[in-house]
Amino acid sequence: MEISGPGSLAVRTENVCRHYQMGEALVRAVDGISIDIRAGEFVALLGASGSGKSSLLNLVAGLDRPTSGAVIVHGNNLAVLSREQLAKYRLHTVGMVFQSFNLIPSMSLLENVELPLRFAEIDRSERSSLARRSLERVGLSGRLAHRPMELSGGEQQRASLARALINRPKLLLADEPTGNLDSRTGTEIMELIRSFNQSLNMTVLMVTHEQALAEKYAGRMLQLADGKLIDDVSSRDARTDDATNMSSEPMKASTPRGEAP
Ligand code: ADP
Ligand code: MG
Repeated sequence: MEISGPGSLAVRTENVCRHYQMGEALVRAVDGISIDIRAGEFVALLGASGSGKSSLLNLVAGLDRPTSGAVIVHGNNLAVLSREQLAKYRLHTVGMVFQSFNLIPSMSLLENVELPLRFAEIDRSERSSLARRSLERVGLSGRLAHRPMELSGGEQQRASLARALINRPKLLLADEPTGNLDSRTGTEIMELIRSFNQSLNMTVLMVTHEQALAEKYAGRMLQLADGKLIDDVSSRDARTDDATNMSSEPMKASTPRGEAP
């Protein structure tokens, strides 16, 4: 199995299950899902509330472990990673954004965005310049000292994107990233995510329940129901765009951290 380079396998799940035992009842949140996602793809994960979208995303993020089956990301079988290796995986391989932004209220934007670099033990001056550049890329240079509460929802989501991308992850996982935003602001966030997908060849797996957003931005739509994959369709134009971008800019994904895209 090819594990790096454009078009190689980014995510594979093999009959993955996450069942929760709730007293007498067994909740089959994820119930035997097998998918392959290639590097550089932009994939939307759709389904009704409770269909298992977040549970599946959390398994790919390494935030949770499967009851059975395997999750393999860029050749790493997450099931066999130690806690320490899993923490490293979360730090370097994946970036994550959520509906509720999850910024730390007491910290400035600059401090919030720097946080993953502190965990990665990058020294202070490099941290600061990388965080500034990341905030610049999402259009927030003028807000470095603001606290999350002093920003609009769209600005907070842009800051959380800057934080998710600071370590140049290969994979961006987004759980309803526009769920708390009005449609115009949501579109701005989607445009930003698309620009990172295309310029960095970063794989995107995005949960949404907005069919229209999925159709506009994703090259492929996976539909879940009751923890099962019930549909897997590629959307027309987005796919060919992806292929063009991947072949014309094959080195972008391996640009050293800190260089502007
Ligand atoms: P979605 O993101 O598609 O709305 P979730 O993945 O959050 O769905 O949830 C799928 C199912 O699993 C739901 O029935 C939910 O109640 C259940 N579930 C999710 N997390 C837990 C948990 N930690 N404990 C028990 N049940 C859970
Ligand atoms: Mg959810």
